[in-house]
Amino acid sequence: MKADNRGILIVFSGFSGAGKGTVMQRLLEQYKDQYALSISATTRPPRPNEEDGREYFFKTRKEFEKMIEKNELIEYALYVENYYGTPKAYVEEQLSAQKDVILEIEIQGALKVKELFPDTLLLFVAPPDARTLQERLTGRGTEDVSAVGARLSRAAEEAAYMDAYDYLVINDTLDECVRQVHSIIRNEHRRVSRNREFISKIKEELKSVPKGDET
Ligand code: 5GP
Repeated sequence: MKADNRGILIVFSGFSGAGKGTVMQRLLEQYKDQYALSISATTRPPRPNEEDGREYFFKTRKEFEKMIEKNELIEYALYVENYYGTPKAYVEEQLSAQKDVILEIEIQGALKVKELFPDTLLLFVAPPDARTLQERLTGRGTEDVSAVGARLSRAAEEAAYMDAYDYLVINDTLDECVRQVHSIIRNEHRRVSRNREFISKIKEELKSVPKGDET
């Protein structure tokens, strides 16, 4: 059963190379009726396997700044010299349609979203250890050596903010990681603070339900 009316807003963050994208892809394949993944806008150039409107909406710096001006983004951040931001309209629409909306965003953005919407669920995905992260980043071959270095430095800075998250999942085995993420979200729906309408309703019903000792 769903929590009251709207879906849950979920932020999924993790160091670059932690496998966030793969975890998300698998989660959405397995539970496509429950989740909606927000597609961000970015000024980063597309990687060879990426398509506009699928991984990101690829924008020029000018276009991105226009979106900021027009207040079309929930949040945005500068990450290793490029802008990344979450378009507002899709998130609103999907939450109203009772979908759990996932934002796969970095830490500055995550903290902004939590400030704006305090009941956001913050999940952090980490690799089993730092060496694995380095190997994954080098192995995927989409960034040159200096970009890999910049992403590792950024990871070291980001680690300082991990404490602000609600849950930590380790991406060691993909299937197990996906199972844990889904299970955390499912449990989150049962949180009392997300079921206020149900609680008020049953309290009212219990006041008026016929009770055996009154007959
Ligand atoms: P990448 O270039 O590897 O696709 O993404 C770099 C970082 O930007 C990742 O940590 C990713 O989660 C983050 N990111 C992607 N979209 C957004 C967004 O809309 N807002 C923020 N704040 N970060 C984002």
